[in-house]
Amino acid sequence: MGILIRGGRIIDAASSTDMIGDIYLDEGVIKEIGEKLEQKEKNDRVIEAKGCLVMPGLVDLHVHFRDPGQEYKEDIETGAKAAARGGVTTVVAMPNTTPVIDSPDRVSYVHNKAAQVASIHVLQAGAVTRGEKGEELSDIAGMAQVGIPALSEDGKSVMNSRLYKEAMEQAVKYDLPIFAHCEDIDLRGNGCMNDDENAIRLRLPGICNATEDAIAARDILLALETGVRLHLCHCSTLGVARMMEFAKAAGMDNVTAEVCPHHFILTSDDIERDDPNYKMNPPLRTKNDVEALLRALKNGAIQVISTDHAPHGAKDKTGSMRSAAFGIVGLETSFALTYTELVEKGVLTIQELVEKMSWNPAKILGLDCGTLQEGHPADVIVVDVDHEYAIDKTKFASKGRNTPFNGWKVKGKVLYTICGGKVVYKDNESIVQE
Ligand SMILES: [Zn+2]
Repeated sequence: MGILIRGGRIIDAASSTDMIGDIYLDEGVIKEIGEKLEQKEKNDRVIEAKGCLVMPGLVDLHVHFRDPGQEYKEDIETGAKAAARGGVTTVVAMPNTTPVIDSPDRVSYVHNKAAQVASIHVLQAGAVTRGEKGEELSDIAGMAQVGIPALSEDGKSVMNSRLYKEAMEQAVKYDLPIFAHCEDIDLRGNGCMNDDENAIRLRLPGICNATEDAIAARDILLALETGVRLHLCHCSTLGVARMMEFAKAAGMDNVTAEVCPHHFILTSDDIERDDPNYKMNPPLRTKNDVEALLRALKNGAIQVISTDHAPHGAKDKTGSMRSAAFGIVGLETSFALTYTELVEKGVLTIQELVEKMSWNPAKILGLDCGTLQEGHPADVIVVDVDHEYAIDKTKFASKGRNTPFNGWKVKGKVLYTICGGKVVYKDNESIVQE
């Protein structure tokens, strides 16, 4: 049985497609795209997409599924459901679980469990060092063999530059990118929000931009030295945006970067009171930083929008920002927030959104996805961008409710998520009948 998606506006960045038409999916691949297609078989499912966008499934390079070890916050099944509800069909899970994913067996645990319980593609990154302790390299060769998409020490940086350079040489050898969380841990100290007048107002310890900038600069220099494919995670500062513009101008194609919706939408001015839902790492910065990030997104110096989906239990996010955990959930709000704040406001075109949320991340992973073209995998989403709705955290499929965006009015509701030719999410609230 195939699926015929009829009459939608088909958007694809890889092939520069923007047309009203039909898409026919069968046997897990996109069989045909055309202006008017007929049902091939009587029992084909027909999805009416008139007035909706039809786009490639989103590829999110940065999520935390907390499995193994902290399944009360999220597990592979609920994380994948949250992804599907947000229109995300491929994710890279970060390895800072309990225990840390630093061996082939632990990578395989996640991949095997995902094969059983996840409706979307879950790729598990491997830690750079054993236990993310920064002392000795993990089994990079072994993890490469069982199919990690990337190495990452996310949650922290490898502070020992010599060890990090050795890791990069290994990464080159096994053709793996390194996803870098840039943070000088000593410089951060006990900081819990951006180091500015709002931190003074709230009497909270600050985190200065140099905390991120110093390590990002080091990592870019090490990438220049080793030729490793370096991807900077969750960039938040004007300094990093400028460094990425410099790297692009210098022709360093091996360095890419991502930014998360909260970092290009909110600033520390939005933190009205000491509220852990505004505590993330890196922190919300200033208007100047946001402007620089948006410029770099627009000019292509920053290529990717990811979520850094970081679910926590209620008890991890109560009390003061001083002691609460870092991070917010993002999988179920990223498309709507990006569409509403960037596309509706004329910062990015819808094609550029698809490029940054599907096509560029797929290219970084070297995967055949993130595009709508005949013969490619049937990872497709249908999105209604006309009707405004309010983000409601009580409806999240994620176990995490930690978001500063609850109640935000947005456009961009995912109606269908199709992964590998199967409908893995359908918005039953909006779709009364097919
Ligand atoms: Zn991180």
